[in-house]
Amino acid sequence: MLDSFYGNNLAKTTLVLGWKDGRLPHAVLLEGESGSGKKTFAKIVAAAAVCSGKDKPCGICRHCKKAGQGVHPDIMLIDGAQSSKNVNVDAIRDIRASANIKPNEAERKVYILADAQNMTVQAQNALLKVLEEPPKGVMFILTCDNHSRLLETIVSRVTMLRIENPPISICAQVLHTLAPEHSEQEYLMAAEVFEGNIGKAAASFHDEGFIKIIESSKKIAYAAVRGTEYDLLAELAEFENDKEGFAACLKRVKIVFMDVIKRKYGGKKTPLGQCELDNYISALQCRRIVDIIEEMLRMMEQNMGYPLASAWLCSQIKNALR
Ligand SMILES: [Zn+2]
Repeated sequence: MLDSFYGNNLAKTTLVLGWKDGRLPHAVLLEGESGSGKKTFAKIVAAAAVCSGKDKPCGICRHCKKAGQGVHPDIMLIDGAQSSKNVNVDAIRDIRASANIKPNEAERKVYILADAQNMTVQAQNALLKVLEEPPKGVMFILTCDNHSRLLETIVSRVTMLRIENPPISICAQVLHTLAPEHSEQEYLMAAEVFEGNIGKAAASFHDEGFIKIIESSKKIAYAAVRGTEYDLLAELAEFENDKEGFAACLKRVKIVFMDVIKRKYGGKKTPLGQCELDNYISALQCRRIVDIIEEMLRMMEQNMGYPLASAWLCSQIKNALR
């Protein structure tokens, strides 16, 4: 079962070693960006906690089977992303009360609190009490996008594991199984743009905006190299009111230039590559553009607005190519 979760060897090893020693932590916090698979991993850990097989989670015992189908009576999934009511103080008090009741079938009882950062401070304080002294056999698995959004007192009482995106090539393979109706090129492209984030990449297949981003990134890269500063500004203009799309598109433009660098140093031509730019730009100039885009993305994270961002980007890129 663990093998079905890609990458993240550190998180997996930490848990497997714990199971071997019988030292399964009573509270685990899985931290990672949205779409990285925290909830999926939490379910695997929960299966391991209730599993009656030897190598946990064995995937074949009745507990693993029920866990896999999402119907194990001793695994409770409380989803803070679905509704903040799910993780309000009353909900946490209910959890505390039910945690004292013995498990139904397994030797353990597991509570998965997904997107725990949506808990109010009051709810977190209520949870703290049961985290400090959990009833015997009770395990809590919390997931969050950033542990700084939880009280320090919570974080200090849990075993924290980072969930990272798998490598691009593995992400592309997984996408193939999740959404078989697309082409290899599309899998690679989505995996690259979303930096291996399987959840986000898979969601992009249902999103017309994604196709737009790919098309626009080609035009922007072309205008950056062959057009005037005005041409470049005009290509950027379609993202005037779409900050997220702008950032996603810039990430894609960055990849276009990184690919040019790779080809210049003998990397093979990829089906997605914009080879027509190769003769008009040096590797050093590409490197500068990549740096500028990275700087730009950092500034946008700090809330730089579109007008300033686009103007800055155009003048920096044109300077770099002079
Ligand atoms: Zn099992």
